[in-house]
Formats: sequence, C-alpha cells, structure tokens
Amino acid sequence: MLKVRFAPSPTGPLHIGGARSALFNYLLSRKENGVFIVRSEDTDLERSSRESEHNILEALRWLNIQWDEGIEVGGDNGPYRQTERLALYHEYTDKLMASGDAYHCYCSEEELEQERQELIAKGDTPRYLGKCRHLTDEDRQKYEAAGRKPVVRFRVPEGQQIVIRDRVRGEVIFESDGIGDYVIVKSDGIPTYNFAVVIDDMTMKVTHVIRGEEHLSNTPRQILIYQALGLTPPEFAHVSLILNTEGKKMSKRDGDTAVIDYQGKGYLPEAVANFIALMGWSPAGEEEFFTLEEMIQAFSLDRVSKSPAVFDLNKLNYMNAHYIKKADPERLTDLALPYLQEVGIIPREEISDTDRAWATRYVQAIINHLDYLAQVKDYIHYVRGGEAPAPEGEALEILQGEQVTSVLDLFVEKLKSLDEITVDTVKPLFKQVTKELKLGGKQVFMPIRIALTGQMHGPELYDIVPLLGLDNVMSRLEGSKK
Ligand code: GLU
Repeated sequence: MLKVRFAPSPTGPLHIGGARSALFNYLLSRKENGVFIVRSEDTDLERSSRESEHNILEALRWLNIQWDEGIEVGGDNGPYRQTERLALYHEYTDKLMASGDAYHCYCSEEELEQERQELIAKGDTPRYLGKCRHLTDEDRQKYEAAGRKPVVRFRVPEGQQIVIRDRVRGEVIFESDGIGDYVIVKSDGIPTYNFAVVIDDMTMKVTHVIRGEEHLSNTPRQILIYQALGLTPPEFAHVSLILNTEGKKMSKRDGDTAVIDYQGKGYLPEAVANFIALMGWSPAGEEEFFTLEEMIQAFSLDRVSKSPAVFDLNKLNYMNAHYIKKADPERLTDLALPYLQEVGIIPREEISDTDRAWATRYVQAIINHLDYLAQVKDYIHYVRGGEAPAPEGEALEILQGEQVTSVLDLFVEKLKSLDEITVDTVKPLFKQVTKELKLGGKQVFMPIRIALTGQMHGPELYDIVPLLGLDNVMSRLEGSKK
C-alpha cells in the first residue's frame, strides 16, 4: 500500500512550496487509496515552536488537505514529533555504532573549521576527512577527560556510486567520495535531519518520499543509512524549485510566500490549492480549473515537471477571481464581513439581517472587480455617505462638459419619482434620460459615474445607485454640478 508523508519543520508558517509538497502527497495518497502522514521535524529546538506547528496544520486544513495518520490524528507509528522519538533514534544509533557504520567524533569547531579552510584553499570540496574514524580507547578517554562531548558521525563508504531513480528527475548519481562522514547525532544527543528522517520513514513504512528539490543532495546521505541498516529505501520524487516570473528565487516581493497571508486577504482555499497544484504539475488537456476531487483523479507523478515552477501572482489572482464569481453569495458575504467591519461600514458586533443583506448586495455588485475579498475595502467609497473621491484629468473634463448639469438633474428627478430604488427600477432610468435629452449612452452614464465615484471605470452604475441610496446619490450629483 502506498504511504506518503509531509514532514514540515515547525520553524515558521507554511510556505507555498511546503503547501505544494503537502498537496502532491495528499493527491497521490487519495488517488492510490494510500495513507497520508503528517509529522513534525522539530529537532531544531531553538527555531521550532508548537505555535508554528499549529499554524502549519491550520493552513493545511484551510486548504482542505487531510491526513490519516500523524499529529493530532494519531496512528500506530507515533509519536509523530521527532523530539518525542529520541529513544528510537538512540536505538538505531547504537545499531549503527555496533556495526561500525557510525562512530564518535570529538573534533572541536575550530579543528573542523581549519580542515574546511584547508580543503577550500586546495580547491577541494569541504568535508570531514575522518580524523576520528580510528580512535583508540585511549584517545577517547583523553577527549572525555578534557570534557569534550562527542557527536556521532556516519561512516561513508569509499568509492561508491549512489544512484537515485527519482520519479521526477530521472536517474541522479552521486559519488560517495564527495560526501564526507556526516553527523547523525549532535553532541546534545539530538539527531540530525538526515538521520531522523530515515528512521521515521522506515518505521512509518513510507513508500514514496515527495519533497522539494532542495533535499535532493540530502538523499544520498539518507540512502547510505538505509543501506547500512540493510533496508530498501523508499521511492523518491523531488519536485522543482519555485521561481518568480523573472526566473529568480521567489521572495516576499513577488507576493506573499506564506499560505496564511492568502487566507488573510480573502483568497478562496480551493483557488489557492488549484493554483499551487499547477506549479509543477501539468494535467493532460487544456483545462486549468480543478476541484480537489478532480485533481485527485487526474494526478500522477509522471506529469510533474522537473523544470522550475513559476509563481505568478497574476495567475493566482485570475484563478481566484474565477472561483469568486462561482462561489455561493452567502459564503462570500461571510468572508467579506471582517473587511467591511475593518472599515467600519458593518458593526463589529450584532450584525443585523439588514446589514448582512446589504453586505451581500454590495459584494455581488462589485464581484467582477474582485481578485480577492480584502478588495471589498477598495470600493467602499462607492457606497458610503460623504463626498465621492475628486475626479481628475479626463474625468474632471467630462464632468465640466456642456450637457452634464441637465443629465444629472434629470437623473435625480427620475430617481426621486421611484417608489423603491433597486437594481431593476434604476436600470431603465439611464435609457430614459438618453432618450429625453437626445444624447448618446456614454454622454449620460459617464458623467453620472464620475459624479458618483470620481472614476471613469468601475462597478455597474445600477448596482452602485441602490447601494448608495437616494440621499447620497443626490448630494454627490449636486456637488458635482459646475
Ligand atoms: N523538514 C523538511 C522540510 O521542512 C522535510 C524534509 C523531508 O520531507 O524529508 O523541508
């Protein structure tokens, strides 16, 4: 049975790259009726926190990524935090020490640094050359007496080729000679990533490791440990880096890198998941919009590309706008309410039915202009009392045109005669004004639009007018006359 895992280090929020690894693991597990594990690699004691762990899990849940085994859900192979598995790592350290595949190293930081510098000066790959490989009991005692605490190093076999048949990258070959004996347990007894991850994957019976390309160079180190323990490694699939649209490493400037930032701006999780999946995975056919269920059906590692993925915020916005237009209006209202509360147009407490209904109408009126829901704040001046933003340039010129006063006056007159101001009652008024004043459509709606909003483009006028209400419309139109 296929078993995959996502093993974040809880040292910060869930980033887009991590979310993609989690999503690919999740999709494959569902597609193959396998098991998906989420566990925590929290051995970096200084940088790890429970808060980060919690936030990562919340971000996964927000994306609708569920796991069958692991933190918070339990399972037969727990505990699922590395700091709670130290006894297990020590057990395997003892095994490797007993078989001679690992040894204690007492070298000090200074000694290691000196070795590094010497290798660099010679143009050689900096690595540990094995000074403590053959210590005698006497040497050891001397070091211990001097108060040195050893690390445990893995003894890398010489002259070996390590071949990875990566499901995404194809065959990748590493030479063991370039590696150098690496630390598997630090002097405080805490295992390093390369060691703990192997023990976890092995004991949890993981069959496929899908993770970011940045871990490719760790893979030979992990494979050597499997070999030393007499085990067959899982299959590996290293998914490519995510670059910005200029082909550089993604940074904060290209858009937010944490999933939670998108949640905070009112992106829809199904849009974010869809967008993330397409960074590196190219489904067959032209379709680019997929529900999670459709992604599960269509997903395969064979269609994950090894060339770098591109993070294009415009594409995310385009996809999110698409999902917003399809979303249930009540759901959008729920998502929009906090932003409307932020700008004070909806009360913080006790939202009445009228407030809510207004919010729904407002969001629906501007829906074609929204890439994400926090943008409901940008259109609030369209619907709040007080003056419209002052028009500038061409907009101002239009407002100073010949016929403008008569257009605005006639429109107000017609508006006042309505029993009720709704989208349906307002819609015909523009045509009537056009006809009666014998003007073109644009000559009518443009001055009204500019008088009401200060701008030449924006949401439909027949949506804005009912939201503003008669008094606001009248005062804005009045204030715009020359
Ligand atoms: N803790 C590693 C990370 O967050 C995961 C490595 C792995 O999946 O093996 O990048």
